[in-house]
Amino acid sequence: MNNRLYGNLIFELSQEGRKGYSLPKNNFGEYKVPETMRRKEDAQLPECDEMTVVRHYTNLSANNFGVDNGFYPLGSCTMKYNPKINEEMAALPQFASLHPLQPAETVQGAEAVCTLLCRSLCELTGLYAFTLKPFAGAHGELTGLMVIKGYHESRHDDARKLVIVPDSAHGTNPASAAVCGLEIVEVKSLSDGTVDVDALRELIAAHGQEIAAMMMTNPNTLGLFERQIPVIEKMVHEAGGLMYYDGANLNPMLGAARPGDMGFDVMHINLHKTFSTPHGGGGPGAGPVGVRKGLESFFPEVSPYHGNFAVAMRAYAYILSLGREHIKEVGPLATLNANYIKESLKDVYELPIDGLCKHEFVFDGLKDKSTGVTTMDVAKRLLDYGYHAPTIYFPLLFHESLMIEPTENESKETIDGFIQVMRQIALEAKENPDEVKSAPHLTPIGRVDDVLAAKHPIVTYKQLVNDKD
Ligand SMILES: *Cc1c(COP(=O)(O)O)cnc(C)c1O
Repeated sequence: MNNRLYGNLIFELSQEGRKGYSLPKNNFGEYKVPETMRRKEDAQLPECDEMTVVRHYTNLSANNFGVDNGFYPLGSCTMKYNPKINEEMAALPQFASLHPLQPAETVQGAEAVCTLLCRSLCELTGLYAFTLKPFAGAHGELTGLMVIKGYHESRHDDARKLVIVPDSAHGTNPASAAVCGLEIVEVKSLSDGTVDVDALRELIAAHGQEIAAMMMTNPNTLGLFERQIPVIEKMVHEAGGLMYYDGANLNPMLGAARPGDMGFDVMHINLHKTFSTPHGGGGPGAGPVGVRKGLESFFPEVSPYHGNFAVAMRAYAYILSLGREHIKEVGPLATLNANYIKESLKDVYELPIDGLCKHEFVFDGLKDKSTGVTTMDVAKRLLDYGYHAPTIYFPLLFHESLMIEPTENESKETIDGFIQVMRQIALEAKENPDEVKSAPHLTPIGRVDDVLAAKHPIVTYKQLVNDKD
């Protein structure tokens, strides 16, 4: 990438007096900004001509990797393709130009989209009612736990403060419980990766009266279907707790099974995962929350208006374009693709938990540990071949986790290409380990210091100047 030629920061391209704009003639007269509100000195903005700006940002955008660039097998995150028709629907001026404070009678179309999306989600999950307000999966977890807390409080069951979370859970689960003012108890997994029912039984025997809820991800973060849910659900309900379903892994369930039928009372859905809306640069997302009948009166106000309405629009467009018939193929296809990759690579990558997976699975690094090549090295080398890295070092159950999720979208050719490259990297690890350990070689920036990048990111120009001083 040659953007170094054009400077890394727009500020570095600045030339005093250069302009890329001209303001229209002022037809409105002048308004005197009160002295106290005026700047004392000019803002330090870059001064560039239009073409410099266009080249700078176009070159920067080419450094980005997205689902539109190539395969993005990021386990746990369901990075599926975002169909362009979703964007077209969300951009229709009748929806895009709405103002949240418009009179209700002028926004009936948008209201209908929200209602119909909720109805579709109810049907797909087997739950009774949904709220579209939460802005993300984690926000949905918090919202769902607030529902559960509200329910227990309404029954004056005030001692119920414990949330049971399996040790394989995503970090947001315990975090959401803590933010909601609840306490977390962890339940261990068996060596096959599923919840240890005996450990759970002991836990419930000891704390039955204090249990507010159990949070489960199914299939769990190892991509394994939790077969003991009927037993678990019965134990938790008999103890007076509610069952929370982390819907981040709902994708392989589409067309196969419904959380409501499994006995879950509350769940969130990540529209940016299962329902093909963009993950964006940290947002906007949406994490609708669904509940069993009788819990809908406990929905809290967690955002203004209807949440991220344009995200809801995209998800509804996705559901309609697949339709009742084809949405049933999503889960089975995602599952087939994951198992195909797993079986094709398990002779060279360590598969700690063998057997049928759902939409994703976890390798524990390369099978041959003698090369010294780590999961991090494999992930970096994949970038050289034009693939986004899988999720690495999560889940925490293994030292060298490499978590792959292909989704239902990918063609056999793309998947075969990925398998071939993964095998190639395993070969390189044996024959030329340094090549892998020093990767990436072909990206605009080579290997970064992860700790420094995470702990001391330089995100402002000013800071850069200060640091130089
Ligand atoms: C992604 C994910 C979450 C959090 O969802 P966000 O939308 O990123 O807030 C929670 N649990 C699991 C299992 C996930 O994969």
